[in-house]
Amino acid sequence: MAVTIDYTRCKGLDCGECVDVCPMEVFKIENNRVVVADEELCTFCMVCKDVCLENAIEVKID
Ligand code: SF4
Ligand code: SF4
Repeated sequence: MAVTIDYTRCKGLDCGECVDVCPMEVFKIENNRVVVADEELCTFCMVCKDVCLENAIEVKID
């Protein structure tokens, strides 16, 4: 399983929607950047993909 952010698309601190909506707190802000903090917590709800208007998030289930 992997949760990844495409930084060529991500709007970072101007957005931050994924940090706000993920019920498992997979994302966090670190060094002024939105990062995947702990992908092992992911429950595949896909809410982050729904809110990311930039289509920057990939959630892969192995
Ligand atoms: S929702 Fe998408 S664009 Fe917004 S911070 Fe998260 S990854 Fe970046
Ligand atoms: S799929 Fe759900 S649990 Fe996983 S990172 Fe996205 S919002 Fe969080």
